[in-house]
Amino acid sequence: MGLENNVELTVGLDLLRQPVLPLVNMVEYLYLTGPFKKIDEVLNRVTKPVELEGVQFENPRQMLKPYKAVLQEFEVVKGEKKLAANLPFIVDEKQKPLARRQALELWVKQQILAQELEKINSILCGPCGCVLCCTGPNSEFDSFSGFKGKMKQEFFEIPLEDSEVDIFALPRIDTVDSGKLTAQSNPPLQLDKMPFYKHGMALYHWQNGWSLILPEGSICPKLLADTKRCMVYEKRPEVCRKPQMFSYVLEKTSDTAKRSDGELIPVYMARNKVLAVWDCPYVRRYQDEIGAYVEMSGMEPVFKKSKK
Ligand code: SF4
Ligand code: SF4
Repeated sequence: MGLENNVELTVGLDLLRQPVLPLVNMVEYLYLTGPFKKIDEVLNRVTKPVELEGVQFENPRQMLKPYKAVLQEFEVVKGEKKLAANLPFIVDEKQKPLARRQALELWVKQQILAQELEKINSILCGPCGCVLCCTGPNSEFDSFSGFKGKMKQEFFEIPLEDSEVDIFALPRIDTVDSGKLTAQSNPPLQLDKMPFYKHGMALYHWQNGWSLILPEGSICPKLLADTKRCMVYEKRPEVCRKPQMFSYVLEKTSDTAKRSDGELIPVYMARNKVLAVWDCPYVRRYQDEIGAYVEMSGMEPVFKKSKK
């Protein structure tokens, strides 16, 4: 890629060399074992350089600042805060419910790792010149990702929130039939006696919500062909912000559980992993750095192919 001296890449790699989770573990330990009521009291004390997991952190307080709101969820343990309404029910890999403190710890780590990985992904993606996430299978831009050969998929799906549908001025398919199926249903939705993905790019309203369908050879209409940059970068759909390295501390299952107030809440399974998608050129190029980052974070790295 000839990117050795790229400034963005250097910043991204520096972030990989300094994962925040060792600092999070330290703050959690100090908070739970010390006389502190508020997380802020701990953060105000971690002002000096510290070495953890073989990494020197020059300014722990500064590094932890973006994660303060999530760290404050620990205050539940000391009765300083109510349990977050969005805290899911968490089970281990044998389906056994986790104790509340352990569940809270994993929930905090999941959110912090997801936030950190989103930032690292955004920094590493740009300089690669790859647009794999913005095109259908076998598009003319595939060479930028380093892909060789032909992808098997007929289409790629970009799931959208209701509020994101208006970003795209594309035909909308919102019929009784589409509402009974999903993009992955087999047999697929038929339009004019053909599978939907044999038609052009369009927005579909499925049983599980809206999505943008990128059929074979297509390119997202928001991708600028000459610069290969997203025209709506600041307001791009949530799923376009998701990294190619996923925080997999917890995995959402299809189960729900009844909370003490009768509310049905999602069930997550503890995994303690980070998933890195092998299709992505920077994942391939920096697999050693990514592996080290994941291990320093106390997780297990899993490299996986996605699109081919
Ligand atoms: S909206 Fe932007 S980031 Fe998302 S697929 Fe289209 S060009 Fe890519
Ligand atoms: S595959 Fe990786 S480098 Fe390519 S567009 Fe997606 S995130 Fe960026």
